[in-house]
Parts: sequence; structure tokens; C-alpha cells
Amino acid sequence: MEIRIERAKTLKPKPDQNHLGFGKYYTDHMFEIDWDKDQGGWHDARIIPYAPLQIDPATMVLHYAQETFEGLKAYRNPQGEVQLFRPEMNARRMQNSNKRLCMPYLSEEDFVEAVSKLVEVEQDWIPTAPETSLYIRPFMFASEPGVGVHPAVSYKFIIILTPVGNYYPEGVAPVKIWIEDEYVRAVKGGTGFTKCGGNYAGSLKAQEKAEEHGYTQVLWLDGNEKKYVEEVGSMNIMFLINDTVVTAPTEGTVLPGVTRDSMLTILRDWGYNVEERKLPVTELMEAARTGALKEAWGTGTAAVISPVGELYFKGEECVINDFKTGPLTQKLYDTLTGIQWGRLPDKFGWIKVLK
Ligand SMILES: *Cc1c(COP(=O)(O)O)cnc(C)c1O
Repeated sequence: MEIRIERAKTLKPKPDQNHLGFGKYYTDHMFEIDWDKDQGGWHDARIIPYAPLQIDPATMVLHYAQETFEGLKAYRNPQGEVQLFRPEMNARRMQNSNKRLCMPYLSEEDFVEAVSKLVEVEQDWIPTAPETSLYIRPFMFASEPGVGVHPAVSYKFIIILTPVGNYYPEGVAPVKIWIEDEYVRAVKGGTGFTKCGGNYAGSLKAQEKAEEHGYTQVLWLDGNEKKYVEEVGSMNIMFLINDTVVTAPTEGTVLPGVTRDSMLTILRDWGYNVEERKLPVTELMEAARTGALKEAWGTGTAAVISPVGELYFKGEECVINDFKTGPLTQKLYDTLTGIQWGRLPDKFGWIKVLK
């Protein structure tokens, strides 16, 4: 892929690394490439100054939500080099999302090259303070103007970057989780396994409801029977029940998280019993009641790990591990972040160091 680079004339001041927040600042440049059916597909890959987009009011994504996205991070390792964590997993997942939404997609190689090139251009934006990184947001949408429902004939793929601190301002601390028994996120045959904006739009109502009751995140049950535990708003979820780690299988309704896959690999490497299976919410609440549920945590790129301190389901509240971060949760966090920031050896070959 030929990438044209047009440098910004003036650069923005860099934000204070100790108060980055999450998604508050955007870098000087963005990557953009167009896909047009009548021009033979992908063309005009470019890195250009970060700027607002001008789009026709009839642009199809605004009406029919043909849109997908990804999320990954670039890290500065102790040697001062820049590294990515398993970017090919994000490339492949975006291909799967796009196929489901009838959208064209970049090859794995082009996706990783686009991400790498933009991060290289913007490497002065990668923060160095502890727990900080450069969050990478690739996304793609139907850019054809038109009001008829059909797969668009033109698309834009864009990557933007934002330096981030901890996802939660208070750091790794237990969250209260609301198990939703009215609304559903995904059904078999739907788009649950894709990272598409539409999934999120449909999930906001339950999130609002959870917050009204003093809970920070929603835990979704399966959409068909509302019986089995699936995942949290933007995270997969795992439970340590006695000495076994249980998490939902990725069979179409659950997003196949890169963090999920990495943690399961680490857990198996440590010799843990890991079960990817349908976990009935009644079994989970019973385990929470009796104390068999030792720890629970959410996993995702943004927060890495979110310990779960409390579960709410149909009027019942159960506190987990005295509302404290459990030892396995902490060990997983330390190990995965150790690999991601290059403080620990890259035993599984997950790191891509940029030149
Ligand atoms: C992105 C996302 C996750 C986590 O995936 P990672 O690759 O670990 O960041 C989990 N669930 C949903 C719904 C997501 O959108």
C-alpha cells in the first residue's frame, strides 16, 4: 500500500500526561483511505492533518448505520521503543465485522501497516507516564449519499489516535455490575460478534437504567432465553468459581475480545482450569451467595481489567471478595500490562515493535 503523507503546518501542544483522561485529546494527523466500487476498490491511502469531515446529509451511515470500528493501543517500552499488542487480531476481527455488515475490508497486512505508519508519524504523542498509552481507533463507514437500503458503493476507513491514561480515573478498583433482565444486546444470527456502532446504540438504554440504580456497567444475558451470562457493555467477563475460571463461549453473540483471548492463554499457561461455557445466571448468583464465586473481572483493551465488586440481579445484591480486587485479578492485570508495556518477556510472541 502506497501511503501519501501530508504534514500538519502547526502542531498542537501536548497535554499533561498526568491528566489525560480517556479520549479527550486527539493527535495532529489521521489516516484515511477510500473505497469506491466504480474505482476498483481501495484508493488514495493518506496520512493528513487531523480535521473535521465534511459529509453529505444523505450519507448512508447516518441513516442505516453501516459502520464498524476497532480499538487497540501503542505503548512506549522501557527501551523507549514503540510497540503494538497483537494488531493482527484487530485486523482479522474488523474483517469479520465488515463481512457481516456487507462492507469491504482491508487486508490484514494493510490494516497493520496503516496503524503502524500513523503511530510512527505520531510517536511523540505516545505518553511515557505509568499506565498511559496511545489509544488507536480505526473505523469505517458507508460514505455514499443515498436514501435506499442497500450496501453502499463507497466507504471511508479512518484511523485516529488519542493519548490516554487509566480508563477509570480512580485506577483499578472494583465496579458494581447490573445484570439486565429486560433489554438484550445480541441474539443468535445477529451482530453481537461484530464491533459495530449499532450494537452500542442499542445498549445505551440498559446502561442508563443501571446508572440510575447506582451501577456502573451492565452484564448482558443471552438474547434468546435471558438465562446465560454473556458479556459486559464493552468488556468480556470472567468468573473464578472455586478453582475454575468460567467465561462465555464466543459463538456469535459475544464479542471475541483480544484481552479475553490473551488472558485465557495466560491462565491456561499457569495451569488453571478454564471453561468456555454457557453459565446460567442462576448458577452464578448461587455461587456468589455461597462464596464459591471467589473473583470476577471484566476484560477489554480500554480498561485492561475491571474487578467486579458486586452483582445485582432481580432485586438481589451479592458482594464479591469483600468488594476488593482479588489476587488472581491483580496477577492477571500485572502480567498482561507487563507484557503490553514491555516490562515482562513477550513469551507468546504478541508484541510488534515498530522500527
Ligand atoms: C471491544 C469489546 C470488547 C473487548 O475486546 P478487546 O479486544 O479485548 O478490547 C468486549 N465486548 C465488546 C462488546 C466490545 O465492543
